[in-house]
Amino acid sequence: MSVQKIVILGGGESGVGAALLAQAKGFDVFLSDKGALKETYRATLQAAAIPFEEGYHTEERILDATEVIKSPGIPEKAPLVQKLRAQGTPIISEIEFAARYTNAKLIGITGSNGKTTTTLLIYHLLKTAGLNVGLAGNIGDSFAEQVIHDTFDYFVLELSSFQLDDMYKTHLDVMVLLNITPDHLDRYDYNFQNYVASKFRILQNATPTDDFIYFAESQPILDELARRNPVGRELPISLKKAVSPGAYLNEGQLITANKERSFSIPQAETPLRGPHNAINMLAAVLTAQSIGIANEDITNGLKTFQNAGHRLEPVRTINQIQFINDSKATNVDSVFYALSSMDAPTIWIAGGQDKGNDYSQLDGLVDQKVKALICLGVDNHKLVAYFGQKVPIIYETQSITDAVKKGLELGKPGDIVLLSPACASFDLFKNYEDRGNQFKAAVNNLMMNDE
Ligand code: ADP
Repeated sequence: MSVQKIVILGGGESGVGAALLAQAKGFDVFLSDKGALKETYRATLQAAAIPFEEGYHTEERILDATEVIKSPGIPEKAPLVQKLRAQGTPIISEIEFAARYTNAKLIGITGSNGKTTTTLLIYHLLKTAGLNVGLAGNIGDSFAEQVIHDTFDYFVLELSSFQLDDMYKTHLDVMVLLNITPDHLDRYDYNFQNYVASKFRILQNATPTDDFIYFAESQPILDELARRNPVGRELPISLKKAVSPGAYLNEGQLITANKERSFSIPQAETPLRGPHNAINMLAAVLTAQSIGIANEDITNGLKTFQNAGHRLEPVRTINQIQFINDSKATNVDSVFYALSSMDAPTIWIAGGQDKGNDYSQLDGLVDQKVKALICLGVDNHKLVAYFGQKVPIIYETQSITDAVKKGLELGKPGDIVLLSPACASFDLFKNYEDRGNQFKAAVNNLMMNDE
């Protein structure tokens, strides 16, 4: 039989990892990227003597593939993808490809929000318990590359809808679905139901003994479940009522309950605040229990977890005013959860590139918690138009240093200054990380001046 020709579209972390794995498995490999590769990826491909092209696609060579591994960033509508589909060439994601070559048990996490936090937390719980576990998917190092030298017993995989779209046979032992809210609709024909279906692909190969963990107060999840036959063992999470089997929040206690065992811990003893993080932690605890981790290890893991930055990240307390960096909150839903998590009068720094935001979801919370709004960015007029009559103090600026100074000036001991923008960062910053880093630098600078 002739050697299979694997073509990889997109030379980012996942594409280059897939190329290395395909080569290690003896395939004829070719990688093509319409843009420029990062220097490190170019060097990796050259060192491995993997043929590649950048800046264009040589269609003839691509259409000759036996199978194509496509980067999640390339839309289905791309003409080349359409041509491959038309001629029936299988197109898969790096996850699907890598999963063929590992015997590790796979834990998959998806949702519109909270994937990274929950994935990192599950990984941390498994590691704290001494398990041999890898972390991959939409986060960190390529899954495919890790699989080349795979010795892991478990992989925790953060899965975006784009990755799920090109997954077909991968079997996940534990599946977590955190929530579904409209997102990325441009890639789903502006049809929310298509996006819901994409998220539900996480269940496509579930067997009755697998655990399916989901947030039971996400209406789109419930609606879709009502349409399907039950798959796997359903473990719902509730913030409102006791569920068994499942997990819930009751008077500040995170509780899991099922026939075999139960667990509880006050959320106040964990480093993650807010109702959204209660959901994330309950999902992680159910996952840990599902694979048999002892309660003591779970408790330890929860208490010692450090989340990725820019997600309600405490920066400093100056003059008894807490500064919190939530730069990752690039939509209104995230701000809803951030403000819900605030337990003191809040000076809210928001703004940037408005994506057609509807702020009405925040009405009650803003009345309750926000004493001042500092608008930072190109679309300040939209914030002012909506909140002008609702927030006692409104200040506009185009400088994050100025925003932070103003926050300190307006704050009283016990207050919080929260950066939670609800908007994209590309007007004044490179990305949300850059925005968060500049915020932290400005806060730290304040302190130096203050001392
Ligand atoms: P993702 O990887 O899905 O983008 P993150 O864990 O990075 O998710 O969190 C991004 C933002 O989403 C957080 O800053 C927070 O505002 C919000 N968020 C986190 N968890 C949840 C959740 N379970 N439900 C709704 N929003 C959440």
